Amino acid sequence: MQAITVHKIGSFEIGRLTVPEPGRDEALLRVTVTGLCRTDLKIIRVGHRDLVLPRIPGEEVVGEVIDVGPETDSGLLGKRVYVYPGKWCGICPACMAGAENLCHSMQIMGFHRDGGFAGYVVAPLQSLIQLPDSLSDEQAVFAEPLSCCLNALELARLAPFETIAVWGGGPAGQLLSRASVTMGALPTVIEPDIKRRELANGISEPPDQLFNVCVVAVGDKTSYQQALSRLAPRGRLVVFSGLAKDFSVVDTDFNQLHYMEQTIVGAYGCCFRHGRQAISLLESGRLPVFDLVSHRMPLSMLQEALDMVADRRCMKIHLYPEA
Ligand SMILES: [Zn+2]
Repeated sequence: MQAITVHKIGSFEIGRLTVPEPGRDEALLRVTVTGLCRTDLKIIRVGHRDLVLPRIPGEEVVGEVIDVGPETDSGLLGKRVYVYPGKWCGICPACMAGAENLCHSMQIMGFHRDGGFAGYVVAPLQSLIQLPDSLSDEQAVFAEPLSCCLNALELARLAPFETIAVWGGGPAGQLLSRASVTMGALPTVIEPDIKRRELANGISEPPDQLFNVCVVAVGDKTSYQQALSRLAPRGRLVVFSGLAKDFSVVDTDFNQLHYMEQTIVGAYGCCFRHGRQAISLLESGRLPVFDLVSHRMPLSMLQEALDMVADRRCMKIHLYPEA
């Protein structure tokens, strides 16, 4: 099968590998479409805390189940599925608390185990969500980034009629904004780039206004400082984007948090239930995504695609591997 492999940070190889075999309680999928995101750029070019090498990246995957392992339920054979990228233990304190994204033995597809930048991928049955007929593969592959946004909005305790400011009008910022609308909230996207800003109907600079929720979907410290200064009383700041390793300390006035009863909450990845929520939200048609796909490219053009993500010359890029 065609596959991208990262052997060392900073480069990748594209080549032919043997199709992997599913083990017990695992399925083999033919990858029909895989989404490229900024995290893949980070994984390949600068590395990531959770990355174990060598690795086939790719954590946004939709495919068709073509085989299952020995003594494994074959009910999903031939079905189209979305793959929740995590594999969790179900018994550790994080899992018991309903936060399996923080599972002590979490295995993320594309990080700890091989992902979807390949013709085929093996995934645990526990992670598969069957797609409704009305949802296309291209829509469904948005379930992964959308799930991460739903996790962030859940942690933000976003309520109807609340105001929410989103820093960054990239794919995540757009999904955060659209998802917040489905919850009855009033979003403002702050984005300097005119094309991205127009897509979100956003503004270029943070306004002189306070927000119930601020989400930073751009990995830059200045945005975090701006977001802190725009929090309303009882406002919640969501740390959605990570910062570069040596630049992750942001000055915070704890007296501001104290007197204004504000909260800072981190959000990383998503839980399985967010995958289900994302699929039903996409199926409902209340959260359109087709206009967010700016490029469709063969997997063999990954280098060009990564350059476009690096230079922000794209919105969402979908990649299509060969078998
Ligand atoms: Zn666990």
